[in-house]
Amino acid sequence: MKFIRYAKNGESRIGVVEDQMVRAIEPAISDMVELIENYDRLRGEIRAVGESMPLDSLTIEAPIPAPRRNIFCVGKNYHAHAKEFSQSGFEAGAVAGAEVDDFPAVFTKPASCVVGTGDVVQLHGDVTQSVDYEIELALVIGKGGRNIPKARAYDHIWGYMIVNDVTARDRQKQHKQWFLGKALDTFCPMGPWIATADEVDPENLDLETRVNGEVRQQANTSDLIFDIPSLVETISAGLTLVPGDIIATGTPVGVGIGFKPPRFLKPGDTVRMSITGLGALENSFQ
Ligand code: MG
Repeated sequence: MKFIRYAKNGESRIGVVEDQMVRAIEPAISDMVELIENYDRLRGEIRAVGESMPLDSLTIEAPIPAPRRNIFCVGKNYHAHAKEFSQSGFEAGAVAGAEVDDFPAVFTKPASCVVGTGDVVQLHGDVTQSVDYEIELALVIGKGGRNIPKARAYDHIWGYMIVNDVTARDRQKQHKQWFLGKALDTFCPMGPWIATADEVDPENLDLETRVNGEVRQQANTSDLIFDIPSLVETISAGLTLVPGDIIATGTPVGVGIGFKPPRFLKPGDTVRMSITGLGALENSFQ
C-alpha cells in the first residue's frame, strides 16, 4: 500500500493512494510511526473508507513530519556521483583520487529539517550561497534491531519514499563534518508517500530530478555502490534501529556542483523529484 499524510479540516490523516486518488484509512491513525509500530497487528483490518479524493486536491504533509530522531544518510554512494563530488572541490578532507571509499560515509540530518511536498525550502541566503539538491531513495525501518545481518536486512524495512538531501555546499566543506551543511531548517523534504516494501523493487528503481523542468539527475538504484542490505548491516552494527528510522541511501550524478561552474539553486527555483512507484516530491526554493 501507499500511505500518505494529508490535512483536511485542520486535521492530519493518513490515507492510501491508488491511481492518483486518496481515501482515508480506518482505524483512523494520524501518526505514521504509530502505524508502522503496529502494522503487523493492524494490517488485516486496515481499510480505505469514505470519499475518493484527487491527490492534487489535497494538502499533503511529510509522511513522518517529526521523526523521533535524526535521519541517517549515506554519502557518495553512486559511482558517477562519487566522481563528480570528488572532483568538485567541495569535499572536505578528500584523499586525492579516492572516488570510491572502502566503507560508506554515514551522517545524519536533524529531525527538525523535515518538510513535505509543496512546502517551501528556505535558501538561507544569510548563511549560504550554495544550496544544492540530492534525490535519494530512503528506506523506512519497520522492525527494529541491532547487528542486523545483510541476509535479514529486508525483513526490517517497512517501506520506501523519496528524500531530497538538500545541502549547503560551502558549509559542508568548511566544517569538515557534513552535518552543518545538511542540517538547515527545511533541508529535508520527503514524500509524498511511503510505499510499503511489497510494492516496489528497491534494487531497480528509476530516479529523476528536474530543476524548473530541466532534467538534472537520471539514474537507477541498481547503480548503488553499497547496496541496501550492506547499509542496514553497517548502520545497525552496535546501534539499535527503531521503527520509523529513515535511511537515505545517497544521490546519483547530476547535482549542482557537478556542473562547471556549479549551478546552485536560486530563489523561485522549483525542484521536482520522482522515483518509480514513489510519486513526485516537488518544492520551491525561496
Ligand atoms: Mg545525500
